[in-house]
Amino acid sequence: MGRLQKILIPFLGLVLAFWFYSARENFKPEMLKGKRVIVTGASTGIGEQIAYHLARMGSHILITARTEAKLQKVVERCLELGAASAQYISGTMEDMAFAQHVVREAETLLGGLDMLILNHVGASYFGFFDGDVEHVRKLLEINFLSYVAMTTTALPMLKESEGSIVVVSSMAGKVGFPFTVPYSATKFALDGFFSSLRQEFSIQSINVSITLCILGFINTERAVRAAAEVLREVPAPRDECALEILKGAALRRRELYYRYSSTRLPLLLRDSAAELLDYLVRSRYRLPGTPGT
Ligand code: NDP
Repeated sequence: MGRLQKILIPFLGLVLAFWFYSARENFKPEMLKGKRVIVTGASTGIGEQIAYHLARMGSHILITARTEAKLQKVVERCLELGAASAQYISGTMEDMAFAQHVVREAETLLGGLDMLILNHVGASYFGFFDGDVEHVRKLLEINFLSYVAMTTTALPMLKESEGSIVVVSSMAGKVGFPFTVPYSATKFALDGFFSSLRQEFSIQSINVSITLCILGFINTERAVRAAAEVLREVPAPRDECALEILKGAALRRRELYYRYSSTRLPLLLRDSAAELLDYLVRSRYRLPGTPGT
């Protein structure tokens, strides 16, 4: 009887999980047609790919980053791909006034906002924590505070449209990662802020979804340059990653894991076998003195 229970209960769990997921709504590109969307950090990498997918789906797009020449090219390409409209504003997210300005411009240029995609990330180093507190402060401003500032300014428009906030985070924002201590700290901060905010939205019946995206290693130029030599992992494609982010956002998922096998599955160990998970994270790196380096 005991053995039967041991088999039956997990089996029933699997059946229920399958039913729950298969009964959920499917993504259709038309869901984003005509939507007014801000994408930050869209001059390159995942943000650029998000802009191109939105363009193919016929959205109104407002993109931002610092490098004007790259933004111009992305806007041109978005228009070629079929965007309902595409515009850019260049500036740095170190400046909270600029972060708020981008959102206010959406009101003027797009007449409102349906989706705020927070994706930009400031430069940091890959190595042991060097004790530079000023760098941690600056990175928190770019990777965290500007996300808070944009969200705060966008909320009246998002409440009106019953829109969505998309926060691009990382496995490094769910579990401790070596060599990216300041970066990980900023990503953990995002989880705390946006998961708490989601609770308050629920209590106040505010119909604005928050999708936290937990990404593994993705083949953007920056990430490959920083980590390809030390990570024992093949990076996932950035265009597929961008599409999965948009699917999760359109379906108003609370969290999105990409790729599932290298993010969600290891995280299942976090509460029951934290030390094993820490070990698995460390074993992803080719370190001097470890096998296979
Ligand atoms: P990239 O470095 O390729 O792109 C970062 C973007 O942010 C660029 O458009 C850059 O443009 C912009 N940016 C950088 N600094 C600033 C600043 N001070 N002010 C305004 N914009 C700025 O990053 P990815 O595409 O690799 O990453 C995108 C998101 O995905 C990030 O949030 C990252 O943490 C997350 N992620 C990525 C992973 C990966 O392996 N690639 C893994 C896990 C999470 P410009 O320089 O022109 O300002």
